[in-house]
Amino acid sequence: MELNVRDELVKEFLDCSSRGDLEKISSMMSHCSDLIDERGETGWTALMLAARHGHYEITKLLLSKGCDTTATNRSGQTARDVALFWGHRHIARLLADGRDGVVHHVLPERETDEADIYFNREFLNRMSEKRTDSEWLAAKRSSPHSVFILFYNLNPLVSPRADANEAEKQERRLETDGDGPIAWFALNTEDDPSKLLKVKDPNSFFLKGPMPGLLMLSDNDAGVVAQARAVLAWHSRYGFCPTCGSETGVEEGGYKRTCLRAGCKSLQGIHNTCYPRVDPVVIMLVIHPDGNQCLLGRKKSFPSGMFSCLAGFIEAGESVEAAVRREVQEESGVLVGQVQYQTCQAWPMPSCLMIGCHCVALTTDISVDKNEIEEARWFTRQQVINALVKDKHAAFNIPPKQAVAHYLIKHWIGFNSNL
Ligand code: ZN
Ligand code: MG
Repeated sequence: MELNVRDELVKEFLDCSSRGDLEKISSMMSHCSDLIDERGETGWTALMLAARHGHYEITKLLLSKGCDTTATNRSGQTARDVALFWGHRHIARLLADGRDGVVHHVLPERETDEADIYFNREFLNRMSEKRTDSEWLAAKRSSPHSVFILFYNLNPLVSPRADANEAEKQERRLETDGDGPIAWFALNTEDDPSKLLKVKDPNSFFLKGPMPGLLMLSDNDAGVVAQARAVLAWHSRYGFCPTCGSETGVEEGGYKRTCLRAGCKSLQGIHNTCYPRVDPVVIMLVIHPDGNQCLLGRKKSFPSGMFSCLAGFIEAGESVEAAVRREVQEESGVLVGQVQYQTCQAWPMPSCLMIGCHCVALTTDISVDKNEIEEARWFTRQQVINALVKDKHAAFNIPPKQAVAHYLIKHWIGFNSNL
């Protein structure tokens, strides 16, 4: 009889840990402190169950009461192994050093795999040293081996991919022409070239863009298009000198426009009027101080049901960190403390550099700037996982994997697999 009562108590204690019932766990511990390292039928302790289900506060409480962190279940996993397996990195880190300090534990580690991010693939060698070699450029321009990619209103000419093998063959195309590397040129026209164009592939067409067309390229092509489109977009808007309004001439293989008026101020000193634009944007996943929720918002223009990271242009004379804090506060009313750079993405629409960060909220009340976004909400890890795996019960959906927002969200969850 005595044994059964104890078994029931242990079972209830473990259930509370699985469910995340902090209040109940706390009160049971104050009556029976020896429940702390008890195991259920599967050999799991309350700590392992809290680690399995991502209950940070319960983990913290059990640690503060001196639970055994070295205990293992029947598969030989400690609570920390369990937390790592299920992607609860903040809990794994808490278990690793046993210290509290929510702010320091809620940020995932930085990973440097930016080449895997769409648009970032450096398929071509930029060879900037050749841009001033006009003879070389002229020879390449008339070489039958050179590749010309054509844009109409900044939308590239593409052909449907026959099959995967064909795509692979294309990606392994010639790299040298007997006279050094093959050169690639990009051209943009604002007059419909369809009638004048004799194309080899009658199925080829200009992508409808920029969205979603530009997100349908292969990784290599996306990298080439990112580079070409950003430069062409600059040429299409900056025909005249921003300093004096005179005509400009193209130099350095298209990477510089120089004012043709002698004596123009832009011809001296360091300035930014001659080179292709790059516009920095911060895009950030705001993490709740409890480490278990993140803040996502939606613009009216988003497809229905989609929520994403907040984002905004960096202002002149502003640091990345300051821009993150200002944008989050403006758009959601939430105050941000720690900011950590994660990765970046070239976004050639027309020439942004998305600087992706994780940051930790200091406050949690939301007050949305209706001019910028329609709604912002805290979502739990489980809700975000459901959205990531496109579960049919998912409460919302997130941007596709080509967007850096997707990466920031996935990386916070701790998924490494290609979902
Ligand atoms: Zn000028
Ligand atoms: Mg803004």
